[in-house]
Amino acid sequence: MADASDTPQTRLARLVLALRSQGVTDPGVLAAIEKTPRDIFTPDLFRDRAWEDSALPIACGQTISQPFIVGLMTQALTLEPRARVLEIGTGSGYQTAILSRLSRLVYTMERYRTLMGEAEQRFQTLGLTNVITRFGDGGEGWPEQAPFDRILVTAASSDEPIRLLKQLKPSGVLVAPVGKGPVQRLLRYAGDGKGGFTQEQLGEVRFVPMLDGVAKEL
Ligand code: SAH
Repeated sequence: MADASDTPQTRLARLVLALRSQGVTDPGVLAAIEKTPRDIFTPDLFRDRAWEDSALPIACGQTISQPFIVGLMTQALTLEPRARVLEIGTGSGYQTAILSRLSRLVYTMERYRTLMGEAEQRFQTLGLTNVITRFGDGGEGWPEQAPFDRILVTAASSDEPIRLLKQLKPSGVLVAPVGKGPVQRLLRYAGDGKGGFTQEQLGEVRFVPMLDGVAKEL
């Protein structure tokens, strides 16, 4: 349990230990989490909970993902420093920031203008210059920049993300929550280099749904 007198560094160190004990063991992923101040991505009301291993509400009725899930998904992507990555569902931008530290370029899409704008400011504050943002429907992907080495989807699609799989390189990896209900299967698709994919289930997750089109409200 966190003690209110703990420094952010102590809380972060405790969080990283907790992630490691749950199976996020990739040193690069843990280092990226250690370098990324989650409190910057958390709304004022929940800032003192930034170092807890839980999802938290953000604007527009969305959520910033649980750090363990961010670690698990990032690890499953098996990123390489030269990778060009597409992320669907920028949200707070926290997951984007972690990706940006482990890859060459991150293209990230969000359907709420407000969230996109706030995330862009955070990328600037942190000096993350390898993130390219787009306000739009991530279900369509980003055809002009395809194919991607890696694709990460952080909103649940009800069916196989076929359109996004078409924007993946033949030996690429796509990680996405798939399912219609409140609990979805976290799936990892790995290209076999010949146009086919192997599919692996990584566990059960709870993501907000991937919705069609851009949001009309801000
Ligand atoms: N990775 C984020 C979590 C975001 S929650 C973080 O760490 O904060 C999922 C996000 O996906 C929400 O912001 C939601 O608005 C967005 N989203 C849902 N459907 C989308 C779509 N079709 N295109 C782009 N973004 C979408």
